[in-house]
Amino acid sequence: MSRKMASSFKTTKREEIKSEILTLLNILYHKVDLERKFGGKLLRLYSTDRHHTSSEKDTTSVLPSEKPIFNANQTVKKIEHDKTDKIESLKILEEEAKQCTKCSLCNSRTHVVFGTGSPHADLMFVGEAPGYYEDIKGEPFVGKAGQLLTKIIESIGLKRDGVYIANVLKCRPPENRNPSANEIISCTPFLFQQIDLINPKIICALGTFAAQALLDSRAGIGTLRGKMYEFRGTKLIVTYHPAYLLRNPAEKRKTWEDMKKIRDFLKSADINL
Ligand code: SF4
Repeated sequence: MSRKMASSFKTTKREEIKSEILTLLNILYHKVDLERKFGGKLLRLYSTDRHHTSSEKDTTSVLPSEKPIFNANQTVKKIEHDKTDKIESLKILEEEAKQCTKCSLCNSRTHVVFGTGSPHADLMFVGEAPGYYEDIKGEPFVGKAGQLLTKIIESIGLKRDGVYIANVLKCRPPENRNPSANEIISCTPFLFQQIDLINPKIICALGTFAAQALLDSRAGIGTLRGKMYEFRGTKLIVTYHPAYLLRNPAEKRKTWEDMKKIRDFLKSADINL
């Protein structure tokens, strides 16, 4: 290797290490900051390094390797909040997200898309990331995919404002590109704390990305859907993303099967639909 090449290699390596250290410092800062606000009760640890491609194909993994990404999949003790406490904590968390500059998406976003719906929801939907219209409006699942999600919710006798809807990422990746590893790692603590605060009876992961991210799995959506999982002490079910269903209407039947499972679970938990 020539001296020039060796020097360039060293510089690249130095930049990579610098970037990793900055990411870890960001995570640490975020954890300490949120634990300070929430009394150290809510935040779970997670580890670094992931990439993904956004696809609903059964064989596609969004995760880069076989090593665990974070321990979000483990059952944790649920924290009970009284109603005002929960609303107040969600507001603090939303304010935190609105000020967030922990990844580069803060430079291109129009709005932080924190989440919408009832803080007391028994059912919570988690999608991938805001798209163009969500970024403009500051609300998840608007536009055609959002309209379809509303129909899906109503198909089991619930109203859209009676559930809670959020994404793994709170800011839109430019041109709807796939989120990067740093973006996911920086942003997931917001989602985990939303889940802990809302404390739904069941979560529905919408699409490959959300399912693989929440379940820390490399399996395709065709394998992941149709089963009941545990996620941070809450039941979790996987179904297709509404945007995928718009492109593949024949798959709507499978989503209806998944929604029936959710409906039956909520009924068995004495939830009025
Ligand atoms: S995507 Fe998440 S971590 Fe990145 S700036 Fe937005 S809120 Fe912060």
